[in-house]
Amino acid sequence: MFNTLPKTAHEFMDWDWPQIEPYLNDLLNRELTAENVADWLVDWSILDRLFSETYARLSIATTLDTTDKAAVEKFHHFLQHVIEPASAANNNLKQKLLASGLNPVGFEIPLRNMRQEAEIFREENIPLATEERKLADEYNRIVGAQTVQWEGEEKTLTQLKPIFQNGNRPTREKAWRLINERRLQDREALNALWVKLLDLRVQMAKNAGFDNFRDLRWKQFMRFDYTPQDCKDFHAAIEEIVVPAATRIYERQRQMLGVDKLRPWDVDRDDVYPPSRPALTPFETVEELVSKAENIFRKVDPELGDYFGMMRRENLLDLDNRKGKAPGGYQSGLAMVKRPFIFMNAVGIHDDVNTLLHEGGHAFHLLEAVKLPYSQQWEYGSEIAEVASMSMELLGAPYLTAKEGGYYSDSDAAHARIHHLEHILLFWPFMAVVDAFQHWVYENADAARNPANCDAKWGELWSRFIPGVDWNDFDAARMTGWHRKLHIFQIPFYYVDYGLAQVGALQVWRNSLQDQVQAVKQYRYALSLGGTRTLPELYAAAGAKLAFDAGTMQELVDLIEGTIDELHAAI
Ligand SMILES: [Zn+2]
Repeated sequence: MFNTLPKTAHEFMDWDWPQIEPYLNDLLNRELTAENVADWLVDWSILDRLFSETYARLSIATTLDTTDKAAVEKFHHFLQHVIEPASAANNNLKQKLLASGLNPVGFEIPLRNMRQEAEIFREENIPLATEERKLADEYNRIVGAQTVQWEGEEKTLTQLKPIFQNGNRPTREKAWRLINERRLQDREALNALWVKLLDLRVQMAKNAGFDNFRDLRWKQFMRFDYTPQDCKDFHAAIEEIVVPAATRIYERQRQMLGVDKLRPWDVDRDDVYPPSRPALTPFETVEELVSKAENIFRKVDPELGDYFGMMRRENLLDLDNRKGKAPGGYQSGLAMVKRPFIFMNAVGIHDDVNTLLHEGGHAFHLLEAVKLPYSQQWEYGSEIAEVASMSMELLGAPYLTAKEGGYYSDSDAAHARIHHLEHILLFWPFMAVVDAFQHWVYENADAARNPANCDAKWGELWSRFIPGVDWNDFDAARMTGWHRKLHIFQIPFYYVDYGLAQVGALQVWRNSLQDQVQAVKQYRYALSLGGTRTLPELYAAAGAKLAFDAGTMQELVDLIEGTIDELHAAI
């Protein structure tokens, strides 16, 4: 009967639950044997891919235009009337497979994950999860509506980003103060949204039998291979090894600007990263951004270049910044057509180049893993997903020069690479703040219901991990920094993943300095395994080690600082 299912997500979008349910019942009622389990998994995968791509397309539509109420309604309708019942039915299918005692080939890790998922599944949490996603959209709506008047024009805060690349300090200060005032206008609204989210999460944890939302989240994220204590060890290693290196970067930046103290308007994204100096202008048009990115991917690996060329031809890129578009960048998988889609907000700065290399890495991961037969095998964790993307930023970096087909003169490319490597060093302490904050929040959920306590905790962590920038006179802005980190509102605990992934990506890059062809081969092999191996095994396949210790951090910090010195000599 599965050949009567729609062939595309576009058709499936118009299907209602009563049309879909018989297919799930068919799967549920089939008797499972060692002989038919592979066919059963193939049929289930077809349905799973239809749900997944429809979800992706409806979700993408809400981010392309956050003012499109019809798109939001359509998405919410689908969540409530299809995803909710489907999620319960899917769970029954997983139970059935687990109960059968069968072990299909290549399915060990998906089975391990299913066992865990079944363990934490609670019917009463399904509507709460839908509620949580709606509150997450509310966060996008609040932040997406933040605009300021700048030189007589209404501008999104993203559109003001290029000003922070500007050498003119008074202009930066003026823009920063304006942005800060605008953001603080939403302080109460975000505090109110926060309390709702926190209560909802605590309730979901309780429903699943946990005292602490973190314990639930750990299991939801399938973190089998590291513990909260490993994360705290990682924070300690960062404080010991990385914070001093980060402080050296801020000090160089201060000297370069010739100022007494580095102020918040001297740094840029997330209030952490000094902008590249000289200000880099890598491209004029999105077409230029895209065509040069393709050249770079091709230099890393000709087949990866072909992948990206296909994405261009098939319109799988939406890259320009427009008012009303949701903030940030992401890659989303379209499971039915087996294609990735990339979303971002390009305004003509170096960050955009990096974001595209990054999302390109995610896209390649999907294209490699999608070759596995069952959709459950494609489900890999965020850590290895970010190894895929962050490695691509580093592997692409040597080809940023115009003579390699990239964007820059040799000296601008050296500046861009120094900036990128500095960015990596400055990221880890920031990540430690975001992660340690969330450990505190969910270990102290009662206290965290009072946003003033969250402000105090964020402020304390900020002083500990990011001592290099002077926020004097701007306490309200400094302490509400957690309002500006969408992960805290939308994807709790999804952040240390980036820090651990960077540890993996830097090792892939380290290997490529010895032998690029071999390093990229290992990298692609790791991606092609999808979610069929444990995390340490996936790292090992990529030629890296999953680690949290000061020794590893020291090796990587030395490599970064050494390369920065070499690049300085080349300018
Ligand atoms: Zn990413």
